[in-house]
Amino acid sequence: MITGKNYIGKTLKASGDKTHHTINPKLNIQNPTAFYEATSDEVDEAVELAWGAFKIYRKVSGAKRAAFLNAIADEILALDQELIDAYTTESGLPEARAIGERGRTIFQLRAFADLVENEDWRENTIDEAMPERAPMPKDDLRRTLIPLGPVVVFAASNFPLAFSTAGGDTASALAAGCPVIVKAHAMHSGTAELVASAIIKAAEKTGMPNGVFSNIMGRGRTVGVKLVKHDKVKAVGFTGSISGGRALFDIASQRKVPIPVFAEMGSINPVIITSKAIENRSEAVATAFAGSITTGAGQFCTKPGLLLTIEDDKTQQFINDLAKKTIAIAPQYMLHPDIKKAFVENVNIVSSQAGTVVVAKVEQTIDANEAPSQITSVSGKVFLANPKLHLEAFGPFALVVRAKDQEELIEIINGLDGQLTGTIIAEKEDYVHLYDVIDALENRVGRIIFNGVPTGVEVCPSMQHGGPYPASTDSRFTSVGTNAIKRWVRPVSYQSFPNELLPIALKR
Ligand code: NAP
Repeated sequence: MITGKNYIGKTLKASGDKTHHTINPKLNIQNPTAFYEATSDEVDEAVELAWGAFKIYRKVSGAKRAAFLNAIADEILALDQELIDAYTTESGLPEARAIGERGRTIFQLRAFADLVENEDWRENTIDEAMPERAPMPKDDLRRTLIPLGPVVVFAASNFPLAFSTAGGDTASALAAGCPVIVKAHAMHSGTAELVASAIIKAAEKTGMPNGVFSNIMGRGRTVGVKLVKHDKVKAVGFTGSISGGRALFDIASQRKVPIPVFAEMGSINPVIITSKAIENRSEAVATAFAGSITTGAGQFCTKPGLLLTIEDDKTQQFINDLAKKTIAIAPQYMLHPDIKKAFVENVNIVSSQAGTVVVAKVEQTIDANEAPSQITSVSGKVFLANPKLHLEAFGPFALVVRAKDQEELIEIINGLDGQLTGTIIAEKEDYVHLYDVIDALENRVGRIIFNGVPTGVEVCPSMQHGGPYPASTDSRFTSVGTNAIKRWVRPVSYQSFPNELLPIALKR
């Protein structure tokens, strides 16, 4: 049952009087529950509890942390239809997506549980002593990874489960041995509270210290800013807008003791489509990208928002087909009215720049929070000259660029901001021309896809979900896949330690 209160450790609290409501995007109405925003005292209490819990939790064995993560997965499943209903009511996303995303969330929790069952993930290294070495003897040195401390996670609006309360950031931080305080996304407060109740139940069942997890709500930045400034918070995970991620990164850098902010933010995810690919399979490529641009109403950080072609006699037909197929896909509801507003504004900014052509857009009347898809096109020369054309429109929109030749195409890639992904659609005959394209992409993106679509981010050790700024604030790390745990730990070396005093993972 949703109460509208904050979970401060294992206790439900609401001492302030500031509340907000979530919105049902389909019906365009407020949902009835009033959610209490965390007071300043509640924020302090959550962080103090997390700090106290850290002293115990950092020493809890990998096997017990794994049991905790698996119990969270079980408790989330036990929420059953109530969770699915809260998710769909607050996000406008269909039930099938809710079930799929719940599956991904469970999978992530269990994957991190498997990872920390043994100590290999800590990249332990041992250099044994060489007392006889000349001219200087060598001491015994052993290195391992230890948790940073309490982590604040900002839940994402576009994944109410998989990148939210018990999503990848929370799962990886808990796996690493860090207590977590989630700042819920205000538009998914009910979903957040239900998942938080599952985490608290799991913590109690598996004997975790009180404060290992809190879920607090807030809207209007006060809660988020206070959390990031708190001296007992040691790292931050964020998925959302560039302005939000950057603001939190700056706040964290200006603290007396700066802390890392792992923010995953904007990306237009360039796709390079060769002329040969258009010649051989224009229809199939157009169908695949119309689907990828509109999946989840285009509200994916990996949505292909920039398609790069080299103009020849078949290019325009391909662009027309892509546009026709894109707008033929039934409009879907966006996550909340502000996201729809930002989407429409950004599409209009891009599409009103001199030299752009609106190839096709949804013209029929749609519901208030449905997304009108659109494809706009521009020449390579105009794109290169106007940085406003690089703007991300978070929704079912793509800009198709017609470069005059390969040289211009490479110049365009080199001029892009950092991106999460880059995609190449090409034929075997193209391979000899692709080395320069791959070189250019490697410098701009975190993941390169060949003959596929960038949407759909597999959870596995080889996944890199993070790229050069502003795709993320630290391109050396991923926020998806088991390597995401590395964000919440730091290395420590032990020199000449007696066996008794070494951490278990490093004992002789
Ligand atoms: P958002 O505005 O960045 O908000 C995300 C979270 O960060 C919220 O909890 C928000 O708290 C907090 N926040 C934002 N700015 C802050 C600041 N200056 N100081 C402290 N806290 C701050 O993202 P959104 O609401 O999810 O969507 C807005 C836009 O973000 C979208 O239209 C889209 O362009 C982009 N977005 C991108 C991705 C992606 O994966 N790349 C995902 C989602 C959204 P408050 O509620 O308190 O403001």
